[in-house]
Formats: sequence, structure tokens, C-alpha cells
Amino acid sequence: RRPARPHRDLVYPSGTVPCHHQHNPSIRVMQWNILAQALGEGKDGFIRCPLEALNWEERKYLILEEILTYRPDILCLQEVDHYYDTFLPIMSSLGYQGSFLAKPWSPCLDVEQNNGPDGCALFYRRSRFSLQDTAHLRLSAMMLPTNQVAIVQTLNCRVTGRWLCVAVTHLKARSGWERLRSAQGADLLQSLRSITARGSSQSEAASGSVPLVVCGDFNAEPTEDVYRRFRSSPLGLNSAYKLLSSDGQTEPAYTTWKIRPSGESCSTLDYIWYTHEALSVESLLDIPTEEQIGPDRLPSYHYPSDHLSLLCDINFREEPHRLI
Ligand code: NDP
Ligand code: CA
Repeated sequence: RRPARPHRDLVYPSGTVPCHHQHNPSIRVMQWNILAQALGEGKDGFIRCPLEALNWEERKYLILEEILTYRPDILCLQEVDHYYDTFLPIMSSLGYQGSFLAKPWSPCLDVEQNNGPDGCALFYRRSRFSLQDTAHLRLSAMMLPTNQVAIVQTLNCRVTGRWLCVAVTHLKARSGWERLRSAQGADLLQSLRSITARGSSQSEAASGSVPLVVCGDFNAEPTEDVYRRFRSSPLGLNSAYKLLSSDGQTEPAYTTWKIRPSGESCSTLDYIWYTHEALSVESLLDIPTEEQIGPDRLPSYHYPSDHLSLLCDINFREEPHRLI
């Protein structure tokens, strides 16, 4: 028998008072590297995960089950190599609008019988948001184009009338590439500054810039330069998952945990950044314990990716300057 998926609680960080009401319902954001099918079967070498547990015809339902369990308003995915044949039709039928951007030279294409390139996907619930603008970015580093991408969408919330800019990205993997990641992060931040500034001139609230949510597999621990860049950028970003910790300052111990021939790798690489001046985090989905993850780590029969999904409920803060 298959073990059940790990149960995860929604946690309300200490010091926050649930403040949503019918005029300001929270926005549920999910960030997840879902593990490209071609990489999981053909490249990753997850030696403690039976190949049978990676069978796409079953694994896709575990991914969709997780998405449907939490029903996010905004869904940011990395390593999507089944967009056109799976996620786009299914998510469309569930009321989502999707956007996909493939990596220029996806490593999936090196795998025999691949299903096309992997890339980032961004979905939003059509009943909640209308689309103002989409940017498909190929990230640069030191002026040179790289193999990593980002999608940035400016949305208008149908409930509150307020603007929200959402970005999804997947930075360069592996150790030894810290400087490239940092440069990619700098390039993305530069684009986000210009997009959120441009968006604000179109919004009714002319002052300030558009609130921002950036979801990604940054492939970087919190000690890396790219993390420091995001934390200290003029955009005023905070990392949502720090709020799970008792001091509110510490990232989770891991967002991915796997065993390859080279050894065990347990690290924090995935983040949900948000503009803390304009947005507040009401609740977050907790991180499964080591016991829940199990001795063979991820992926497994009960969890379909080597990365955990991150999920939080976000509210617009009151706008004191806005006279209605
Ligand atoms: P990355 O280094 O960013 O990694 C690509 C994927 O590999 C990620 O999804 C990453 O997952 C996963 N990964 C990370 N560590 C390991 C590991 N130890 N073992 C197996 N998989 C791992 O790749 P790039 O985007 O820079 O692309 C590199 C590949 O792309 C090359 O191998 C080549 O095949 C191809 N390429 C081809 C070019 C051409 O001219 N034809 C040009 C450039 C690239 P996660 O993020 O979850 O860690
Ligand atoms: Ca991967």
C-alpha cells in the first residue's frame, strides 16, 4: 500500500492577527519545483527512489492532488516539462489562466524520449485576477544571455481592485555557479524594478510601486549572495517562510531533500518573496518533519518531487494614503 501524503498544517505566525474579511480576502500563493519528468527519470539519479514511483501516469496525479488540496490563487512552478499536454488543459478546466516559458537549452532535451523542454509556469485563478501584462524574460549575467528564465505578470485583483505583480523563476543549479546565480538575481531584480514602476503609473494609486510576489527555486542557500541581494534590494522584499520560525528571521532547514550517488543533499533553495510594505503574510503551510519525509528522502511513493511545495496566504495591507 502507498503511504499517505504527509499532513501539513497551516501555521499563523506569532504576532499576526488574521485580518482578512470579505473585502480583503487573502491570496493563496503556491511555489513548487515539481521535478521535470525527463530529469527525474533520466538525469537526477535519485538512488533511494524506485523508478516506479516516478512513473508519470501516476506521479502527475500526486502533483495535481497537492495543487487541488490547497487550491492556490497563484501557482508558480519550475521544471514543468508537461505543460501543453497536462497542466495547461487541466488547470484551464479548473478555472486557471496559464503562462509557460521554456528554458532555451533545457537539459530535458538530452534525455531519450523526452517530452520537450522544461521551464517555468505561472497560473492564476481567472475569477480572482485579470491580466494586465506579461513579460517573458531570459535572464542575463554580466550582459550575456543565460539558460535561465522568468515569467512576470501584472495582475489586477477583481475583489479589491488592487494591483499585484507576480514572478516565477528557476536559477542556475549546482555549486560553483554562485556568481552566475547572483548576476541572474541582479538582472531579475532590475527587470522587476522597471515592471513594477511602470505598472504603478497605470494603477489608480499613483504613489508607490506595484506590490510584488517572487516565487522561485533560487538554487541558493540563504548564505548566498543572490539571497542577500533579494533581501536588501530597494524593492523591500521579505522571504515569507522566515515567518515560520520562532524568531521570524530564520529560513526553514530544508525545502529539498534527496539522495544521489554523490550523497545526501538537504537544503533550502526555494523562496516566496513579497513586498513587506504593501503585503502581509497571514499563514504558511508548515514544512514536513524528517520523520514524515522518511529515510529514503524525496521523491518517494508519497511525495512526487524532490522539492517541497511552499504555500502562503497573503493580504494587501491597508493603504493609509489612499482616500476612497
Ligand atoms: P542547471 O545546472 O541549472 O541544472 C539543470 C537541472 O539539473 C536543474 O533542473 C537541476 O535541478 C538539476 N540538477 C541539479 N543538480 C543536479 C545533479 N547533481 N544531478 C542531476 N541533476 C541536477 O542546468 P542548465 O540550465 O545550466 O543546463 C545545463 C544542461 O543544459 C547541460 O547539461 C546541457 O545538456 C544543456 N545545455 C545545452 C546547451 C547547448 O548549447 N546545447 C547550452 C547550455 C546548456 P534543481 O534546480 O532542482 O537542483
Ligand atoms: Ca531538479
